[in-house]
Amino acid sequence: MKLRQSNLNKLENTTFDVLIVGGGINGAVSAAALAARGVSVALIDRGDFAGFTSQQSSNLVWGGIKYLEGGELGLVIKLCGSRNRLIRAYPSSVREVRFFASIEHGFRRSRFTLFLGALLYWMIGRFFTKPPRLLSQADIAREEPRVAPRGPGGFEYSDAYLVDNDARFVFNFVRAALDHGAIAVNYVASLGSERDPDGLWSTRVRDEEDGHSWTIRSKVLVNAAGPYVDQLNAQNGESTGHTHVFSKGVHLIVKRITPEPRVITFFADDGRLFFVIPLGPVSCIGTTDTRVDDLPPRVEASDRSFILDNVNKRLLLEQPLTEADIIAERCGVRPLVVPKQEQGGTVDWVALSRKHIVEVNQTDKHISIFGGKLTDCLNVGQEIADAVTYLGIALPYPKRRWYGEPDDSIRDEFFHQAKLMGLDSLTAKESSEPLSTRLWRRYAASALALLDDIRQDPSMAEVLIKGTEYIRAEMHHAAQREMVTKLSDFLRRRSKIALIARTEEIKVAPGLLDACEILFGPLAQRKLDEYFGPHSVTAHPPAHATGSASGPGIPAASQSSRPASAQQPSQAQEPLSPQQASSPQSAFPEASRPPASSAGRLARS
Ligand SMILES: Cc1cc2nc3c(=O)[nH]c(=O)nc-3n(C[C@H](O)[C@H](O)[C@H](O)COP(=O)(O)OP(=O)(O)OC[C@H]3O[C@@H](n4cnc5c(N)ncnc54)[C@H](O)[C@@H]3O)c2cc1C
Repeated sequence: MKLRQSNLNKLENTTFDVLIVGGGINGAVSAAALAARGVSVALIDRGDFAGFTSQQSSNLVWGGIKYLEGGELGLVIKLCGSRNRLIRAYPSSVREVRFFASIEHGFRRSRFTLFLGALLYWMIGRFFTKPPRLLSQADIAREEPRVAPRGPGGFEYSDAYLVDNDARFVFNFVRAALDHGAIAVNYVASLGSERDPDGLWSTRVRDEEDGHSWTIRSKVLVNAAGPYVDQLNAQNGESTGHTHVFSKGVHLIVKRITPEPRVITFFADDGRLFFVIPLGPVSCIGTTDTRVDDLPPRVEASDRSFILDNVNKRLLLEQPLTEADIIAERCGVRPLVVPKQEQGGTVDWVALSRKHIVEVNQTDKHISIFGGKLTDCLNVGQEIADAVTYLGIALPYPKRRWYGEPDDSIRDEFFHQAKLMGLDSLTAKESSEPLSTRLWRRYAASALALLDDIRQDPSMAEVLIKGTEYIRAEMHHAAQREMVTKLSDFLRRRSKIALIARTEEIKVAPGLLDACEILFGPLAQRKLDEYFGPHSVTAHPPAHATGSASGPGIPAASQSSRPASAQQPSQAQEPLSPQQASSPQSAFPEASRPPASSAGRLARS
């Protein structure tokens, strides 16, 4: 909490070169790219970093094989390049994964045509991954016996995935920005911005934790509010040539369906690609693609039945999956960018690709980021740095590398030290990988400090919340360096505990209270109440209420038969603050806004 408080103080007393509103992937990479090059940057989000769309993705880093069918060769070339760059830059957290695709009789394309498409995709990806493979029905039956025989076979190809999760990936960019001097604070909302007569932006903001508000001044304003970009622009009197339409995507999380570390892929009843994605001890199934107009999106009963019906039809499971098998749900909207004149329904929105547009208003020194993907994040960071330079902000260190894992020498030193102290012998039995591998991936160079903590006090290597793999040293690290402001920030975004265990199980997990005390000190009870509801977990609970030290902890993949609809809301349905749920109110009277200008606008895709 100290980091947040000290950053709040700095937000109040500094005029920044750039203020970025929105800490999803687009805002996070923008902050990282600018801060590393020496620009003074502030980043605010009215929720947690990655707490909106960026925590609801499919966790894939992919070149967009499906866009080949629509002939979007340029986009696929660009996305494959972005994917390869991310795999190279983050070898431990962005990894190649095989997609095992099966085709059904009567599908719109033959198995061979699709295989040729996969070959073309591999070539466009500059042969960076393993080559695709044509699969007969016999191959599928032998290698993935859970796939129901419904056609002539299929094909296998490669893309990549985020080993931890999307939100952690985003947070690591926020952390990198902080390391380079950016002032990033979560739970701070923009209430609206206006241009002052001296040419600076004044943005009225409110601390959503204590309600106090003040003004942040900046030379340039970046609107990275994701699906709320249009709303914020309207509030600030900024007019743009582009706008968003929304496509809702839902994923359901169930216990792990197939042991193989690959993505089971098929074409669902609506003809779209559909995935069963491994995520540690669970599988993430989806997704849907439904046009919606209202935010935030909600999981409907029809979304659940679409996903369950499709997976039950195409996989041979001992028991068909039902709502009772759902451990958690994910639900977000893809903000799809369209030129403004095409907005009113004339556009074939399902076929819209997921490109991004950076729209720059030179007169107002204002930038809006539309659309995008996690996969394309390095390009967004670079384009924002270019746009900010174009608006007259000098980058003192223009060539400074702003992304990627540390050099091999630091990595080697970490693994050498870990080996000498026998770190991997302390790996929790529920962990799917050696402790050293996980610590390096999550904390990179900072993992060396964790080794030191464990050397000083071996209890630092104990798993704290039983049934998860997170150790005591990580809680201390999170408390100091990861701006965990609410319990959900840790359970759902810095870690993936809330994705692999049901709320009811987390609530009684031994160690939860200790973890909260490390994270929040005297505020532990308040934070527990905020997450689980008042008095459902107490800081000094009777033994029967919290489980005992020898209790079961969180099962590796929960098998509770509790119906999903009766559970606490998943993080996808995490209650939103009133500000998130309603339209932001303008901080400035309408009449005092500067006239919208489109002069000097520069659009890039
Ligand atoms: C179902 C689904 C699956 C997807 N799968 C993939 C995938 O596998 N691979 C891939 O590359 N991409 C995927 N995407 C796309 C990708 O997730 C999104 O394009 C990306 O996360 C959008 O990031 P963003 O930063 O623009 O928006 P967001 O993550 O929504 O961030 C915007 C932030 O702005 C904040 N904000 C809004 N208004 C204000 C305000 N007034 N003051 C302060 N803060 C504010 C919000 O709280 C939010 O955190 C998927 C998307 C969906 C929905």
